[in-house]
Amino acid sequence: MAGHKYQAPRGTFDVLPADAHARARVQRTAAEIFARAGFEPIATPVFEDTELFERGVGHSTDIVRKEMFSFEDKGGRGLTLRPEGTAPICRAYVEHGMHKLAQPVKLSYLGPFFRHERPQAGRYRQFHQLGIEAIGTDSPLADAEAIGLQAELLAELGVPGVELRLGSLGSLEARQAYLEELKAYLHAHEGELSGDVRERIDTNPLRAFDSDDEGTQAVMEAAPKLVERLESDDADHFAEVRALLDAAGVEYTIDPTLVRGLDYYTRTIFSFVCDRLGAQSEIGGGGRYDGLVEQLGGPATPAIGWAAGIERILLALDEEPGTEGRDVFISFAADDSGQRALALSLARDLRRAGLSAEFDLAGRGQKGQLKHADRIGARRVLILEADGAAQLRDMESREQRPVDTGSLVEEIVGGAS
Ligand code: AMP
Repeated sequence: MAGHKYQAPRGTFDVLPADAHARARVQRTAAEIFARAGFEPIATPVFEDTELFERGVGHSTDIVRKEMFSFEDKGGRGLTLRPEGTAPICRAYVEHGMHKLAQPVKLSYLGPFFRHERPQAGRYRQFHQLGIEAIGTDSPLADAEAIGLQAELLAELGVPGVELRLGSLGSLEARQAYLEELKAYLHAHEGELSGDVRERIDTNPLRAFDSDDEGTQAVMEAAPKLVERLESDDADHFAEVRALLDAAGVEYTIDPTLVRGLDYYTRTIFSFVCDRLGAQSEIGGGGRYDGLVEQLGGPATPAIGWAAGIERILLALDEEPGTEGRDVFISFAADDSGQRALALSLARDLRRAGLSAEFDLAGRGQKGQLKHADRIGARRVLILEADGAAQLRDMESREQRPVDTGSLVEEIVGGAS
């Protein structure tokens, strides 16, 4: 509309009430699944020292190089709006000496994250993630459980068209050795590669696996794959994760080209993609980060975790906007002060009993009130009448019968509506 001076900043959005319902269901379902598996909520600040992300996420990653909302506060501190949740949680783990607790420490979180990316469907500058971290275990069972919990969440929410991709990066040293091998292989085939892949052989060789150029794809088919180069411990670990997932009936495909945009990953990595999402098809993903806690100043502590994007889940679910509806709408004659007072106290009693109850606040006439009750999805309307009598109207069947306002709560809660 012309004349609007202010708009939500580029890449951000308002969550309006009609969308809040579907969002709340996602959050509630996740919270329940996390709690049942013993992952306890943690909340960290939305901004942290910039250095935490530079060190944790990695100087050479896109996130740190291009996407952070960084600023200096009035005290001259370099701060950054958190682009991800794992480094802050590991910072909290170290800061609060959580390594002294029984291990692993199992945590869950949910909240806003910030990346200065080019906005498009499913990609925003402020978005929301929910996720879990199991810190202090290198057991493959923790990997299988973490992965299984995301599969469970997406299944329980009814997200369609989901596929799990699984890979392993091995240890940091093994990965380094592999990257050198891959670079040498790519240089040996330079003539057959597309220009953009050729230019990035030394900076980002793994990108060649994503190329849609036919010549490059042919070269990459025979390229050395990291999952095939895993050394014994890493290979055993990965085999055990796969065996546990197989036993649990969690389906996956091994993706030798899987990489994630953060430096801290080691060993198991995974990604849940959804075929309803277009270009930004990843719904959630994560992996092991066995070196991160130590890198942030804590003791050597293996860990695994994942995050899923709430907006991507909502896009995939594509639910109609809607509201919760209301259990009872109380209609009264606007000019009757006794009825007004009764409406207020009855609404309070109904709410105390756990029902949702509302009444008119806009001075509508009785007909207008009924129309409004319909609009907000009221299942019943209590119609207060002049002489203290009342009628309870079922908005679906349109049936109406007299009720005693003194026993209204019992009657409705008892299911006799
Ligand atoms: P990451 O922290 O990069 O591993 O991302 C985990 C999940 O967060 C992704 O699978 C997405 O669902 C979500 N996500 C990441 N970046 C964005 C973004 N810019 N906008 C919306 N969702 C995002």
